[in-house]
Amino acid sequence: MNAEIIAVGSEMLTPHRVDTNSLYLTEQLNLLGVDVIFKSIVGDDMRRMVAAAQHGLFRSDIIIVSGGLGPTEDDLTREAIAEALGVGLRRDPEIVAKLEQRFAQRGWKMTPNNAKQADVLEGATVLPNPNGTASGQWLSGQFEGRERIVVLLPGPPHEMKALFESEVRERLREKVPPAHLFTRTLKIAMLGESAVDARVAPIYKRFSDVETTILAGAGEIELHFKTRAATLEQAQERADEVAGLVEDELDDAVYSRNGESLEQIVGYWLQMRNATVAVAESCTGGLLAERITSISGSSRYFLGGAVVYSNNLKTEFAGVPADMIERYGAVSREVAAALAEGIRYRCESTFGVGITGVAGPGGGSVEKPVGLVYHAVASDSGTEVIQRNFPGDRKRIRRFASTMALDMIRKKLM
Ligand code: ATP
Ligand code: MG
Repeated sequence: MNAEIIAVGSEMLTPHRVDTNSLYLTEQLNLLGVDVIFKSIVGDDMRRMVAAAQHGLFRSDIIIVSGGLGPTEDDLTREAIAEALGVGLRRDPEIVAKLEQRFAQRGWKMTPNNAKQADVLEGATVLPNPNGTASGQWLSGQFEGRERIVVLLPGPPHEMKALFESEVRERLREKVPPAHLFTRTLKIAMLGESAVDARVAPIYKRFSDVETTILAGAGEIELHFKTRAATLEQAQERADEVAGLVEDELDDAVYSRNGESLEQIVGYWLQMRNATVAVAESCTGGLLAERITSISGSSRYFLGGAVVYSNNLKTEFAGVPADMIERYGAVSREVAAALAEGIRYRCESTFGVGITGVAGPGGGSVEKPVGLVYHAVASDSGTEVIQRNFPGDRKRIRRFASTMALDMIRKKLM
């Protein structure tokens, strides 16, 4: 079975609000073995809402609508769905009484517009809303010869979630043939998206029953393998079959298969090896330290470090010889290595990390363009320096550089 989600609300067609309800609903539907095949966002406009609902009824088994169930002028979901289905609305006296009671309890008189929250689609079951006045509705039946389920949920996320959990999930479970979806996620560091795809597409293309998605960020890629089967174990086995082959192909570039972040993995390995780390950051301005310390328990392996933006502080805090900076420039292989070695020496850590580069948008030159970053990791076994030219804006270049440094530590630990 498949589903479609319609988010109602003009505010989500502005730059200020996003539809988060559908993310929650998609996750919940997937857990029931239901694929979400369309999502739409429609403003508070009767004609457009009817059109969106008609499309949904035509192409999807389950249509979940969120929002537009309140008492105000622009809350039109009930009317629009009734029109799309070609059914009437009846005013439910029980809901009217409950609404009146709710208002009376607060010492208020109910305004007439509130009564429309008691309008129910013909044939629908009312889903009481534990957290608000707008009830949900459940309707299942034939629509133009096809079996359809239509669910109306309130827009405020906490109301929508509570109602889904208390009233919708079990009703759907009864209707949906037992199927399980499983997604295995592989996370990959410091390989390009097209390079990864070129290597792994020949593998995942052989598994037509596995849906593969690639998500790319600065220096990090996620591969999702989604499968469906009668049991969770079978679904997982099939997803892991593809994931295993892809892992063999990409080897140690894969850093996680259970959703962990790179900083979590690095933290895990540092603890396993009883190792510590200290950082001397220039162009990342503390981002690496921020990412490492975002993990709870990082005090066990992160000693600290310095943000050394000026040449003076590179010398004073990390012991980089002043004449070295003069000779090679602050952004250089030599200075990166000296930062890593100097901070390691000063902090007495297992690993010292140095980062220096040109984050831009200003400050670039022909020899040292924007995006040029040197990353160094010093340890007992010597100092490794990697030079990269990252694309993108300041934020992206800094993110790339911190990911590169984390990945260098990870590879040293494995
Ligand atoms: P109410 O009685 O509060 O009017 P309603 O069902 O009419 O309930 P809306 O008016 O559509 O709901 O939305 C109420 C609030 O919930 C708004 O602040 C809106 O930003 C938020 N909201 C609505 N839909 C979504 C969504 N899909 N994702 C995230 N937030 C949403
Ligand atoms: Mg509303």
